[in-house]
Amino acid sequence: MADTIELIDLKAQYRALKPAIDARIAAVLDHGRYIMGPEIAELEDRLATYVDVPHCIGVASGTEALLIALMALDVGPGDEIITTPFTFASTAEVIAIVGATPVFVDIDIADCNIDASLIEAAITPKTKAIIPVSLYGQCADMDAINAIAERHDLIVIEDAAQSFGAAYKGRRSCGVSMIGCTSFFPSKPLGCYGDGGAIFTTDVGLAQIMREIRVHGQAKRYQHDRIGVGGRLDTIQAAVLLAKLDSFDAEVAARIAIGDRYLEMLGAMSGVRTIRVAEDRTSVWGQFTVLIEDRQRVAGALAAASIPTAIHYPIPLHRQTAYAGISRIAGSLENSEHAAASVLSLPMHPFIAADVQARIVDVLGGATAR
Ligand SMILES: *Cc1c(COP(=O)(O)O)cnc(C)c1O
Repeated sequence: MADTIELIDLKAQYRALKPAIDARIAAVLDHGRYIMGPEIAELEDRLATYVDVPHCIGVASGTEALLIALMALDVGPGDEIITTPFTFASTAEVIAIVGATPVFVDIDIADCNIDASLIEAAITPKTKAIIPVSLYGQCADMDAINAIAERHDLIVIEDAAQSFGAAYKGRRSCGVSMIGCTSFFPSKPLGCYGDGGAIFTTDVGLAQIMREIRVHGQAKRYQHDRIGVGGRLDTIQAAVLLAKLDSFDAEVAARIAIGDRYLEMLGAMSGVRTIRVAEDRTSVWGQFTVLIEDRQRVAGALAAASIPTAIHYPIPLHRQTAYAGISRIAGSLENSEHAAASVLSLPMHPFIAADVQARIVDVLGGATAR
């Protein structure tokens, strides 16, 4: 009997890194600085160097990272933020939390990222920022988006929750716009053992404001110059991330190799459409997602063979009750609707064996051929 196939196998990673992770956690338990301990600054330095931007701010989650970024930019009622409806709810949620209006622009069906060619038509005098999501682990066309933003005096915030470690024209995700926000939720490409996230920025003034917002708007203890949040990253989570960073390059390489293997095996399969990775980019495959017309039946066949799948995401945000009344739709969102109806994510993590991957593809091929 073969081992159980997991969608994302976090225990395999822990087994591989156990001594380093245990030692780092034990060090925190010993020094006792559970809140803003020395591991936070150490991690921020390492991450800033990795991404190659001057400022990194560790925060409580990916959602908190996006929220703090919008608060630092003073986004509020009357402002519009352009984003994609085909994403996890957080991206639009934070826009609504600060009282601004999410403006949904359709995706390019080839990579399921926001279609940069549709953004300019959605800009109004109220537009303040654009939040492209690097969905499934690949950056959107950031140079095109940055150029539009520059022409219209807008800020670009990359939602890089699924793409930490990905490359875009030789730069790293989180370092391809003025602000980049990522998540360290356990199942993300770089995950901790609870909630966590980080903000990256090239702007020293914004970095200072974000650091203050992270701790209740304090410039100094008990001096509150602005409204903030309780948005700190836990020291223990920083310790876990520091232990994992040593092997992160190897994990990214494994993710890319496994993704390439999937693309090669699935590329010619009829009834299955893979995500296109642009030549100037890499995907770290936060999810390995394909588009299948007959999704329900194929997912059923995989489940019957004990192969887990997931749907990222079944309902685009403009169709969600919470967002229907408070968002604006800019143009047709037919690609987002089509993607929501047909995407299926396959098991994807750096520890999938080649024979397991071949079996997944076999079962998928058998199901789509019927
Ligand atoms: C996971 C995710 C988030 C939120 O990250 P959390 O750490 O769970 O708050 C935001 N955006 C996208 C696209 C995500 O996948």
